[in-house]
Amino acid sequence: MTETAQKKVSTLPGGGSLRIYMNGALVPKEQAVVSVFDHGLLYGDGVFEGIRAYNGRVFRLKEHLDRLYRSARAIVLDIGMTPAEMAGAVLETLRANGLRDAYIRLVVTRGVGDLGLDPKKCPQPTVFIIADKIALYPKECYTQGLEVNTVSTRRNSSQALNPNIKSLNYLNNILAKIEAGLSGAREAIMLSLEGYVAECTGDNLFYLKGNRLVTPPPSAGALEGITRGAVLDLAPALGLMTEEKLFTPFELYTADEVFLTGTAAEVIPVVKIDARSIGDGKPGAQTRRLITAFHTLTQRDGVEI
Ligand code: PMP
Repeated sequence: MTETAQKKVSTLPGGGSLRIYMNGALVPKEQAVVSVFDHGLLYGDGVFEGIRAYNGRVFRLKEHLDRLYRSARAIVLDIGMTPAEMAGAVLETLRANGLRDAYIRLVVTRGVGDLGLDPKKCPQPTVFIIADKIALYPKECYTQGLEVNTVSTRRNSSQALNPNIKSLNYLNNILAKIEAGLSGAREAIMLSLEGYVAECTGDNLFYLKGNRLVTPPPSAGALEGITRGAVLDLAPALGLMTEEKLFTPFELYTADEVFLTGTAAEVIPVVKIDARSIGDGKPGAQTRRLITAFHTLTQRDGVEI
């Protein structure tokens, strides 16, 4: 945390506009603007994280920052701050807004440069952090379950753009989301080029068959989701065996239960895929146990704000 940012935090008024962390300072959201020459905007050149705070604690902050710095390294982007400084900036942003439960969007772009792709044109990255509320799906989706469809847009091949780089290039996922919407579903299941289930547009995917909990490996094009990791950690205590393996939609159609995981969505049951009911067509019992276990974990785990 820079001195400027510290000073701004301490002089903040009680309510008012949301404060955004912007390159070392906390500024009102009206002043939190990026240049039209920012390569994050011009080319999607940058990386980001979506993080949650629950009950005054930031959930799995270290894991999120590890992934952010891995993504940045993979695109040769020097963030210009240490992970400890970044953690401090996240916490300051939450404190400045008086938030104990929040969604945090942390973005690092290549920064401002001339027109032209060359990242060397951008001497300094742009770093901003938004802490706000998010509700990705309406409440009834959690109680009644989601309908999702497989789409023809395939997940990026790791030989073109590795899906484990959490970059600002989301057009692949957006195209899939559009297709899902056009087909009447809220979410899309994306397959790899080889036809294996990869993930959804912003969530990982799991299925349950008996007491086996299965999710695609990163090699299928699945992001190593932080929520996915938490669910894999929680499963053994619930008597579930976990497995990462390649599978096709057949396994989903014939599964007992299917659910999605993500920082914003948390754990959400899927009850219909490609117009086929999954299991008995209602959120499954194991999924409901995992949702409860996940909520309990988020209430007690994390870095204190
Ligand atoms: N897959 C994709 C493509 C994502 O963008 C995300 C994050 N929104 C996830 C999976 C879920 O990851 P996490 O649990 O870390 O939010």
